[in-house]
Amino acid sequence: MMAAGRSAELGAKVLLAEKTSQLGAKLLMTGGGRCNITNKASFKEFIAAFGKNGKFLYRALHVFSNQDLVDFFSARGLNMRADPDGKIFPANDSAESVLKVLRKYLEDNNVQVRHNTAVQKIICHESKVTGVQTADGRILAGGKVIIATGGLSYPKTGSAGDGYKLARDCGHTIIPLRPGLIPLESDEEFIPVLPGLTLKHILISIVIDGKIKASAQGDILFTHFGVSGPTVLILSRMAVDALDLGQKVELALHLLPEYNNHDFEKYLQEELDSRGSKTFANYVKDILPDSLAPVFVRRCAIPPEKKCSIITREERKIIARCFTDFRINITSPRPIAEATVTRGGITIKEIDPQTMESKKVKGLYFCGEMIDLDGLTGGYNLQEAFSTGYLAGMKAAE
Ligand SMILES: Cc1cc2nc3c(=O)[nH]c(=O)nc-3n(C[C@H](O)[C@H](O)[C@H](O)COP(=O)(O)OP(=O)(O)OC[C@H]3O[C@@H](n4cnc5c(N)ncnc54)[C@H](O)[C@@H]3O)c2cc1C
Repeated sequence: MMAAGRSAELGAKVLLAEKTSQLGAKLLMTGGGRCNITNKASFKEFIAAFGKNGKFLYRALHVFSNQDLVDFFSARGLNMRADPDGKIFPANDSAESVLKVLRKYLEDNNVQVRHNTAVQKIICHESKVTGVQTADGRILAGGKVIIATGGLSYPKTGSAGDGYKLARDCGHTIIPLRPGLIPLESDEEFIPVLPGLTLKHILISIVIDGKIKASAQGDILFTHFGVSGPTVLILSRMAVDALDLGQKVELALHLLPEYNNHDFEKYLQEELDSRGSKTFANYVKDILPDSLAPVFVRRCAIPPEKKCSIITREERKIIARCFTDFRINITSPRPIAEATVTRGGITIKEIDPQTMESKKVKGLYFCGEMIDLDGLTGGYNLQEAFSTGYLAGMKAAE
């Protein structure tokens, strides 16, 4: 929508072919319907949020930055607000109103929108694009074609990975597709009893083949299959790659991160001494949520009825380890259909970052999630789609 609108605004005659009956179905799901549209992060932080491929976005983010995106919507009557953590949302918390502005942008610039029109083939002549063929066999002629078919997740929204095939048929290389920002499955016996539990402000580390690879403070949400929540989604990138390589993946939770491991044993000794005749199970209940407490007691393998005052030094060590390094075995990511973004996609090596034009076919442009770019949670992925869309639209019109 951004690419089409920008091209038309610059004077091009634009037709937008949309496979489904509705534009922006995925956009409506973003941020739980509130649409975390971008982030207050600096230019440098934006580039870093996309990992090793981030530098590809220099030009696109320069031409259409997070501030430009906020201004784009404000100028059209939709104000934005930033949360303390930097995430930017429409002030009315409505993804629907974001879509409304984009539809009006298309309408105001006379973009012809054709719904229920799936593009099946890109037509080229001597390495130059001449149009597209739709699923019903019609040819739509055009000197420039911008492909913006999204990733592979939530296929009911229309983003079912069609663009990868279209690009491959034009000679493009597709970096293997993997789930990004994805919840993780676990086979721990306690998973079925914890759904709905959220532990807030804990320290979550990812442990691969026994070694801590990264840690982040945040919340963890237990689900019927394993774990989720923004911090887990961010750490999922390493988990997916390690699982692909057949490595052992665990999450290690520090349940009381306000204490470092050294202070913790001292703190624990004082705590247990002060509880005297209280049972170990009741002490744990005072500290942890109801559903987690019995799980924790079982993990410690200390009799629940044992009095705090007679817990041994060895047992104290076990309890301290369970509080500071509570392991959760990870077996797999959730299926890619449930991913927030698709990792992999059209290799950035075959796209000109100054224009978003294909280096293989003249007049063919790519933008959005279908490119081998995926950012952190926090509005980065929508900004990437808007910035690359804006640049592709501008350059195609020129
Ligand atoms: C549940 C969920 C929540 C998210 N929340 C956020 C968030 O808060 N902030 C954020 O930054 N990101 C979020 N994302 C990620 C973000 O939604 C995507 O990265 C972004 O929508 C990608 O935009 P896009 O234009 O590239 O593709 P899409 O938004 O997927 O749009 C692709 C369009 O192409 C159409 N299409 C597909 N194939 C064809 C074809 N062959 N012919 C014609 N049309 C076709 C589709 O129907 C669709 O309309 C979320 C994703 C999910 C799944």
